[in-house]
Amino acid sequence: MDDSDRSTGFDTRAVTAGEKAMTSQGAFGDVVSPIHLASTYALDGIDPSLALEDVDPDAGEFLYSRLSNPTRRTLERQLAALEGGEHAMAFSSGTAAIAALGLSILEPGDRLVAFEDLYAGTKRMFTELFAGRFDVDVTFVDATDVDAVAAAVDDRTALVWLETPTNPLIRLCDIEAISALAHDHGALVGVDNTFLSPYFQRPLDLGADVVAHSTTKYVNGHSDAIGGAIVTDDASLADELALTQQITAGSMLSPFDSYLTLRGLKTLPLRMRQHERNAMELAEFLEAHPAVSEVYYPGLESHPQHDLATRQQSGYGGVLSFDLAGTQDDAITFLESLDEFALAVSLGGVESLIELPAAMTHEPLDPAQREAIGITDTLVRMSVGIEDVADLRADLEQGLELISTLESPADD
Ligand code: PLP
Repeated sequence: MDDSDRSTGFDTRAVTAGEKAMTSQGAFGDVVSPIHLASTYALDGIDPSLALEDVDPDAGEFLYSRLSNPTRRTLERQLAALEGGEHAMAFSSGTAAIAALGLSILEPGDRLVAFEDLYAGTKRMFTELFAGRFDVDVTFVDATDVDAVAAAVDDRTALVWLETPTNPLIRLCDIEAISALAHDHGALVGVDNTFLSPYFQRPLDLGADVVAHSTTKYVNGHSDAIGGAIVTDDASLADELALTQQITAGSMLSPFDSYLTLRGLKTLPLRMRQHERNAMELAEFLEAHPAVSEVYYPGLESHPQHDLATRQQSGYGGVLSFDLAGTQDDAITFLESLDEFALAVSLGGVESLIELPAAMTHEPLDPAQREAIGITDTLVRMSVGIEDVADLRADLEQGLELISTLESPADD
């Protein structure tokens, strides 16, 4: 692939990088990739020496759409170009992408060192599947502390898995420092880049070996397709992922979802800039409001890792959390009073979403586990959309006014 050529800017690559190479192979001069629904492709003749590995989708060669498909291939090339990697593989969900990676790298007896503050589904995969079924030694650490990671990584460690920033408390870890120490032990470093997208953070440039995405979130950006991807410069890992996971385990993205994701990707830079502008304004508004006790957004100077965010990221993203000063009932009243924010899990779409982690995304954790991580009953997480920020702010303002006028039990 030659799509990672950085002589063009990110915004240009987002529109055309994968598309140009693949659509130029078509008969009609399409400027966007068509949705290739064909499950199989007629051959010109029989070549008994043809092996699967010899079929080259980038040269317009296709056999069967589980192996590769023109629309999926276009998306994969586009994703590789944006993350600055050589190879990308698109999977049926972010979860499938992360599972594919683990199943390609880990063997029984290996150690997997992971940030303790991971997306709950990934944590469940690591403990129940990798540790529980495959006898991998899974060790969770506080990866905000580089020394804690250094203490956990040993020569048995095959993979260090990071998420930065995390959900819902927006904690960061230092990708460059952790990659350097992991490489000293021969371990690979993988980063889930879902929360920032390649527009705001490129882990491969910081020394990581593999990047994962739930493309369901910012990459697609329109809350209408579940998908995932892995990007890497490591050719043998890419071959392993394609052969054992997409081809053998059958865990690949459909042509229609590939098309939707490609379509979403073209406006990624525009969307990310607006997500961030809106999130910054709302974070500053919330920080100054008396009904809010704490705001977690790395763009604020009050964020304990603001300097790391400024160094490691090229923007602060569109997700923020905040703690309300009252009770959980107040928080529920607040959330239910909002018009512009849909009460929903997930994030990264053009529309603003809001949720109460203790009762929604993180409800499966017991209260002690939530308390240990710092998730209170009144913590609210927002995925700030690209709407008119004045409308979002007015909506939050009326909700906060409403709970400020409620009588608290302490007043009885
Ligand atoms: N990684 C992160 C950071 C997520 O937030 C999610 C889902 O919320 C996933 C991975 C899983 O992605 P999917 O829902 O596409 O399987």
